[in-house]
Parts: sequence; structure tokens; C-alpha cells
Amino acid sequence: MASILVAEDLSAVGGISLSAALPVLTAMQYDVAALPTSLLSTHTSGYGRPAVVDLSSWLPAVFKHWTQAQLKFDQALIGYVGSVELCGLLTDYLTNQNLDLLVVDPVLGDLGKLYSGFDQTYVGAMRTLIKSADVILPNVTEASLLTDLPYQRHPELKPTLTALQRLLKPGAHAVITDVERDDHIGCAWLDERGDVQYVGQPRLPGHYNGTGDTLAAAIAGLLGRGFSLTRSLELANQWLNLAVAETLDQRRTDERQGVALGQLLRAILALN
Ligand code: ATP
Ligand code: MG
Repeated sequence: MASILVAEDLSAVGGISLSAALPVLTAMQYDVAALPTSLLSTHTSGYGRPAVVDLSSWLPAVFKHWTQAQLKFDQALIGYVGSVELCGLLTDYLTNQNLDLLVVDPVLGDLGKLYSGFDQTYVGAMRTLIKSADVILPNVTEASLLTDLPYQRHPELKPTLTALQRLLKPGAHAVITDVERDDHIGCAWLDERGDVQYVGQPRLPGHYNGTGDTLAAAIAGLLGRGFSLTRSLELANQWLNLAVAETLDQRRTDERQGVALGQLLRAILALN
């Protein structure tokens, strides 16, 4: 079994981020090290202001202990980090790990805006962090923030992806994750020749929490299991479509809970 370190926020209620990544990567037969970058009583959409514990003094102790214990991880997935200091700590720890694969979802914002609490200094720290990544998974907003290109809901993909690639090491891939084309939603990236590639699935009605986090976990898991980038993105988008369809079928009264994972987990187990 390969080991994967997942670093992102843990919201006790709401079923997103670390709570979603854990079952997905466990079903994909990884040993998962779940490292919360901050603790929240709920996620931040719809429950009012959560009780938050800042873990920036705990993380250096974690890395110190792991180094003493000579723990090694094969792969890592980084989602929401939250502070410039933590971005630096993670960058330092992971560059000493000699990972086979580092996937970074550079969580910065959505709908054209930075998430509250973030500023340009934080965007700069994220630019440094992604220099170590093999694959980054920005949404359209994050692509614009990282490249300094003006935000457009439907950006020109080739110049945006080319500008993102310039922020990465040679051989790494930038994949934009919430690209809408006709009535589809999916991922866009550049192939070896620099041509834009796209895979998507029909866009289902509504907006759901946790789709981006779950997609990132699925992509990281598939890439680590040796699937090509194209195949990983195809499967991950199919699985997310299953998750959104299942969520719709449940006719939930509480729309705050993250997407349903039952069908997606079944699809993963069928692949094993
Ligand atoms: P986040 O906003 O959580 O940071 P993101 O902006 O990167 O994530 P999302 O918009 O959540 O991305 O979409 C991620 C993936 O989830 C899409 O590529 C798609 O596979 C799936 N998805 C999201 N919304 C829908 C929808 N309404 N119908 C079908 N699939 C969806
Ligand atoms: Mg989004």
C-alpha cells in the first residue's frame, strides 16, 4: 500500500475537505495520514461563524516528531492551508520528503474573489508552494489569482493554462477544475504539444459543497495509482457526476452537507 499525506482543514460538520478526502483515498487503498491544517466546528458555508482552532503552532511539532520517527510518505495532497506561515512549513517539510507525487489544490477563492482572510501575500506563498507540485488543481478564480490575469467566468483557456504552466516546474501539469463548456462541467489542461484538452460531464442543477475537495482527492488517488492524467481526470469527473446525481436523488432538506459519497465509493471499489 502506498502512503499519502493529506493536508487540509478539518470541519467537524459538513462532510467536506479532509472528511471527504479520507474515505475516498482509503477506498483507493492508501494508508492515509490525515493532517488538519486548521480545525473548524463546521465548514464556512451556511452555518454561521464556526469555532476555529489555528494549528500553526502544532504543525511544526508534528513535522519535528515525524522527522524523528523517520516517517516517509510516498505522496501528498494539499488543500486549504490558511496562512503564509503554514504554506512555508509545508513547503519545507515536503521538499525534504522526496515524494513520488505532490498534488496541490491551491485553495484561494471562488466566484472571482479571494476567500476572506486571504490577501496578495498569501497568493504569493501559494505561488511558492506550487513550485514543488507535480499537478495543481486551481478553479477558474484561482487560475486568475495565481497568474494575475483578470477574472472571467469563461477565460481563454490556452493563455491561462500557459501562464499557469510557467509557475510550475518542468513536467508538472496545471489543471483548471470548474470549466464549463456547453452544458458540461469539467477539467482543462495542456497536452505535451501545448493544445488545450478538456474532459467533462453534464452539469447537474444546483451548487454543492465539497465537490472541489472530493475531485482533488480522486485525482490525486488515481494519479498515484498510475493512471494517466487524461484517464484520471475522466474517471474523477465521472465519479463527481455520480456524487452530485446521488445528492440530487436524496432531495435533501439541508443543503449544507457535502456531496453524497456512496455511489462514488462504490465506483472506486469496483475499480479495485
Ligand atoms: P471549490 O469551489 O470546492 O474550491 P472548484 O471550484 O475547484 O471547487 P467545483 O465547481 O466544486 O470546483 O467543481 C469541481 C468538480 O465537481 C467539477 O469539475 C465537476 O466534476 C463536479 N461538479 C461540480 N458541480 C457540479 C454540478 N453542478 N454538476 C455536475 N458536476 C459538478
Ligand atoms: Mg468552485
